Amino acid sequence: MTTHITELLNALGVPSSAFTGGTLNVRSPIDGAALGAVHEASAEDMRVAVARAHAAFLDWRNVPAPKRGELVRLFGEELRAHKADLARLVSLEAGKVSSEGEGEVQEMIDICDFAVGLSRQLHGLTIASERPGHRMMEQYLPLGVVGIISAFNFPVAVWAWNSALALVCGDSCIWKPSEKTPLTALATQALFERALARYNAAGGTAPVHLSQLLNGGAAVGETMVDHPQVALVSATGSTRMGRAVGPRVAARFGRCLLELGGNNAIIVTPSADLELAVRGILFGAYGTAGQRCTTTRRVIIHESIHDELVARLDRARAQLKIGSPVEAGTLIGPLIDGASFEAMQKALAAAREQGGEVSGGERALASQYPNAWYATPALVRMPAQTDIVKHETFAPILYTLKYKTLDEAIALQNEVPQGLSSAIFTNDIREAETFVSASGSDCGIANVNIGTSGAEIGGAFGGEKETGGGRESGSDAWKAYMRRTTNTVNYSRSLPLAQGVKFDI
Ligand code: NAD
Repeated sequence: MTTHITELLNALGVPSSAFTGGTLNVRSPIDGAALGAVHEASAEDMRVAVARAHAAFLDWRNVPAPKRGELVRLFGEELRAHKADLARLVSLEAGKVSSEGEGEVQEMIDICDFAVGLSRQLHGLTIASERPGHRMMEQYLPLGVVGIISAFNFPVAVWAWNSALALVCGDSCIWKPSEKTPLTALATQALFERALARYNAAGGTAPVHLSQLLNGGAAVGETMVDHPQVALVSATGSTRMGRAVGPRVAARFGRCLLELGGNNAIIVTPSADLELAVRGILFGAYGTAGQRCTTTRRVIIHESIHDELVARLDRARAQLKIGSPVEAGTLIGPLIDGASFEAMQKALAAAREQGGEVSGGERALASQYPNAWYATPALVRMPAQTDIVKHETFAPILYTLKYKTLDEAIALQNEVPQGLSSAIFTNDIREAETFVSASGSDCGIANVNIGTSGAEIGGAFGGEKETGGGRESGSDAWKAYMRRTTNTVNYSRSLPLAQGVKFDI
């Protein structure tokens, strides 16, 4: 594995010195093999990086937006050219099955394409003024340094969602990736630097410190979070992390974009196409070994179809192929580490105590991979939505619940503290429309006849309540990366005051 990883990283433009001899040890969740030892940044390194990023911002903000878009276009080209290698690295470091690793890099390419188009559409409004000879307008202007904190489970795509938009918006970026996935970050940074060199070779004027990477743990992130020159902190991770980061940024009146934990449910009604529902639930609950923020953690089933659907899910669950994520046919790869497996076991024990009937959830492939953590997907029949069901356990556990009326199902769906993604499977238009209406799901994402995970980049992504309220990726999420200014221009020869106020001198 180590030789392979060296070749892969070198091919992606990362010198061996960047991932050897450091203090941050990286292990593959596939078999526990050591992948590298990455250099960690210090608090002082972060302060220097912020000063450099701020200087870069002062230049970059004056580059016309469509020309900024050209840099992101070139980066998208690098990603296209190196998609297979970067995807492979995502699988080796984060344990995603190959098609999901490729999907992650495709998502980066998609957001680059989106951002390039956006670079010609960063538009404000013109507003009618009540005063003669005056015009009002709103402009969106570059914001400053954007600090990006990312989680292990989307080790590169989340950074791209943020940075592709931030860069066309005229901002500079600093990235503090998960300490569990520094290698994919190094590779992504190398591809970005290649794009930047090509851009400047073709006459562009991108500052060298436009987008920097600093590896390390929470402490490095904290220095960034507290720094007054970081205009926006975009942080993706657990609700625990958001609780630490949000108030610190607020204390200095900085801007925060939080993308935190989810506890996503699918409601299945009597009219649902059960074939579709089974597929949607299985991918949502067990794909990525239950390690997506949008993973389906709860399924709320009408009592008339409950037993049949649970039996089908349980049968299908037991047949899902668990194995190395880079082997063909594998659907469920490893958990990220032993702590994650422990958390899964604790949650299953709590579920049993709270009346749940557990199928699956045991350790798998322990003799083949004694230093890695694979688990069979778990299905837990719950008598009620108890405390453990309201908690996000980042593992393949699906809780099943029963309902009688749609109102009751929606109430159960909304009863948890998180508010990221949700879905309903139904062929009844009244039920579908109710679910997406004001009295329906309270989540940032509410789907009909598709599961809770696997969002496209075109829509704004994010959730409510403990999920943090942030929106990133598509739609008008770009506005978070710019500052809005309202301008009133007087082209008359008098100076009337608004609201008829007089101040005659
Ligand atoms: P985590 O919270 O342990 O770590 C996420 C990142 O935050 C890491 O880079 C970590 O170093 C950093 N961090 C932690 N404490 C910090 C602090 N006090 N100050 C600054 N930085 C700090 O999360 P994880 O285990 O890597 O990822 C899994 C979690 O992320 C799950 O809860 C999942 O739902 C969530 N997630 C959410 C989204 C979303 O878009 N809503 C996407 C992916 C993951």
